[in-house]
Amino acid sequence: MASTSHIEIINRALENNVEFLRTILSKETRISVVIKGNAYGHGIDVMVPALEDLGIDHFSVYSSPEAQEALKARKKNSVIMIMGFIYDSDFEWIIKNNIEFYISDTYHLNKAIEVSKSLNKKALVHLDIETGMHRTGLSLKELKKAIPIIKENNESLVIKGVTSHFAGAESIANHTRIKKQFSIFKKRIKFLNENDIHPGIRHIASSAATINYPETRLDLVRTGIIVYGYWPTKETFIHYVHRRKDKIDPLDRALRWKSKVVSTQDVPEGEFIGYGLSYQAQYKMKIMVIPVGYCNGYSRSLSNNGHVLVRGQSAPVIGSVNMNMLICDITNIPKVKPGDNVVLIGKQEDNEISFASFAEMNKAMNYEILARLPENIERKLTPNGN
Ligand SMILES: *Cc1c(COP(=O)(O)O)cnc(C)c1O
Repeated sequence: MASTSHIEIINRALENNVEFLRTILSKETRISVVIKGNAYGHGIDVMVPALEDLGIDHFSVYSSPEAQEALKARKKNSVIMIMGFIYDSDFEWIIKNNIEFYISDTYHLNKAIEVSKSLNKKALVHLDIETGMHRTGLSLKELKKAIPIIKENNESLVIKGVTSHFAGAESIANHTRIKKQFSIFKKRIKFLNENDIHPGIRHIASSAATINYPETRLDLVRTGIIVYGYWPTKETFIHYVHRRKDKIDPLDRALRWKSKVVSTQDVPEGEFIGYGLSYQAQYKMKIMVIPVGYCNGYSRSLSNNGHVLVRGQSAPVIGSVNMNMLICDITNIPKVKPGDNVVLIGKQEDNEISFASFAEMNKAMNYEILARLPENIERKLTPNGN
């Protein structure tokens, strides 16, 4: 059965973005691609093998179910690391499958040790340090409690890494807080070393910190949004591009969301279009209907506001976005007919509905719009964007 829309992941764009990261990083810094939120809506099943083919061998997820999907999708022996909360009942599966995971408190540290002992298999742990975000992580007090536990249970644990997360490296307004966090992070690593604990890799930077604070890249960066071809914020983009000689955006958007026109219609002047009175034709108009609505991830806030591409031209959304369809004005693109390709996000000929502009129209962030694309939309990898 034909689905009403589908998502293409453009391999050439992924390759470009990974290559861009490699050019700014030193050889010693490894890339972990963050694939939480169904790989920011791109699909874990499509993204993991595609990125492995581009040489990526480290993936970060948030939860055990995401780790399970990544494990199913991987073709090589890539590392899978859980950055988030873990239920007690999931530790057995995690340790058995060599999934790496964050430890943010002594309760979960003890739990991991207990399960490791019962399986007679080492747990692969990253110590998550509280450095000032005040969300999760070992405070100095908890760390002091954890150190003897770690040392006594040497045979149950491999301390794979030490980690933390910045509270908003995408905004210059947070500069002082970020600097302070980084300084605390370095102090805690020193403290661990003094206690004869030597975590394999040190990692704290996400996309924004990787761009804005090169000194924070350390042994590994956890990059999500950049790999998909978007900037964490407009501010990060401007800040970066300004320093670049050619002033060109080095990223390519990897996702294209497509549908097809189902019908077209002429509407006489003065008539209302769609539900209620939200749009009245001010002149004789032509409209088209696209079989995508808010239940398919096309936000209702794009009513009378969004644009789509058809025949290489931009067509404004008119009236309210319905649950299963939206209506666009094609008065100036009269040749449109049922079956024509429509691009909801991405490029068509010389035009692009870029996610940045889409996000601004939608008053939401790139992250949110991407992550909300429903899992049941068919996704497939395509070599390039043509
Ligand atoms: C989401 C996330 C990242 C990646 O963030 P981007 O801005 O997409 O690069 C890195 N680390 C943690 C802990 C995260 O939650």
